[in-house]
Amino acid sequence: MTENKSKPKRPRGRAVLLEGKCIACGARCESSCPVNCISMNDAGEPVILADKCIGCVKCIKVCPAQAIEISFTPEEQKILDQLAAAGTTAPAEEEDPEAAAVAKMQAQYRGVWVFVEQADGEAAKVSWELLGKGRELADKLGVQLSAAVIGHRVEALCHEAFSYGAENVYLMDAPLYADYRTQSYLEAMCHLIEQHKPEVILMGATGMGRDLAGAVATHVGTGLTADCTGLDIDDKRNLMQTRPAFGGNIMATIMCDKYRPQMSTVRPHVMQMPEAKQGATGKIIRDSFTVPEDQVLVKVLEIIRDGDSKHKVDIGGAEFIVSGGRGMMGPDNFALLEELAKELNGVVGASRSAVDAGWMPHDRQVGQTGKTVRPKIYIACGISGAIQHLVGMQDADLIIAINRDKEAPIFEVAHYGIVGDLFQIVPTLTRKIRELKARGKKP
Ligand code: FAD
Repeated sequence: MTENKSKPKRPRGRAVLLEGKCIACGARCESSCPVNCISMNDAGEPVILADKCIGCVKCIKVCPAQAIEISFTPEEQKILDQLAAAGTTAPAEEEDPEAAAVAKMQAQYRGVWVFVEQADGEAAKVSWELLGKGRELADKLGVQLSAAVIGHRVEALCHEAFSYGAENVYLMDAPLYADYRTQSYLEAMCHLIEQHKPEVILMGATGMGRDLAGAVATHVGTGLTADCTGLDIDDKRNLMQTRPAFGGNIMATIMCDKYRPQMSTVRPHVMQMPEAKQGATGKIIRDSFTVPEDQVLVKVLEIIRDGDSKHKVDIGGAEFIVSGGRGMMGPDNFALLEELAKELNGVVGASRSAVDAGWMPHDRQVGQTGKTVRPKIYIACGISGAIQHLVGMQDADLIIAINRDKEAPIFEVAHYGIVGDLFQIVPTLTRKIRELKARGKKP
């Protein structure tokens, strides 16, 4: 009789979700599972079928929040303890050739870039807001912050970019770039990316930024997250891009962990404007790359400015906003809000319900499908506080909510809440402010 000397097999365990740690990153664990034992629930969190799991740890490797771990049964734990006592070391982890190739490619990409959007040599403010955020990201990554300026006779913008924190500016200045055209700007950006390989590129979620970012991401074969409301860096140098998902019902954190550069667009006023440091300097890296004009299919024949633009209200840049919702009951009642806004030197905004009802124009809509605002004071009148509205105004310095329903969710973000009938409260507020002003006091 021979004695069976074969060692017990090392148990692999089963993947389990750690409660409260999942960030609903977008089902990366589900797509990494080779045996389809993970499905997502309504909250975007994984449901792991323990009896199907083979303990391959692929889901653990892709999880950006360390929300999954391997769990062993008491019997399996006993075997592991026996192996440990016998001094059996764990087999060396096999090198994953795909992961090694990705790591090698990613190591070539370094630096945070902001695309400086401009028209007639004037920069869109969102570009400076993004340099503020870009500074934070670059510091976390330990890399330089750069701006990409494309246009004609736009060198002055390089110095402005330095004042908002850029250390380098990649400048492409040529008549070809005088007016924005997708093709010429796309080729310019792709050329710069190929030459300098940035790991993060941020653009404003404006008409131009959305158009260009989509074209560039498609061309260089990387991911793009639009309309981000939060940006951060994880411990693997991935850009954590947070934005509303599923109709705004959850905030999803999206990562582009296999491709570079990582690209995001951010709406104006979402990020804080950094303070300009006058006299700051940096390095201008000029690039004379152009394509022949006759190869650019789109020609700009004439630019017709919006004749009414001077009279248009920019709620995005307003310091005081008085917003009305369905509780206003009709378009005429917005006159009450106009009066209050006038006393505060502010403007009137609206919820989507008020806009959909035709009470206010769309350019006054605050929220996910409207504008993001960051005023000093936001007064919400007859607005319930749906998440899609909150994402557009919750960063206001001071929020005052007037609602007759004390359970309305708007009170959860409000600094001051007034429970009552807005038709009594708003005129009273307006009158009080007028009285204060008449007495020479600041409201
Ligand atoms: P309601 O939810 O009907 O609330 C009206 C409030 O008025 C109630 O709380 C009520 O108590 C109060 N009220 C009534 N009468 C009075 C009174 N006399 N005095 C005081 N209070 C009173 N919404 C946006 O706002 N912006 C967006 O960008 C946006 N985007 C969306 C995108 C998607 C994909 C989806 C699905 C929805 C979006 N919505 C958006 C709609 C959002 O879900 C809500 O339906 C909307 O915000 C509700 O508007 P409201 O608060 O004015 O109306």
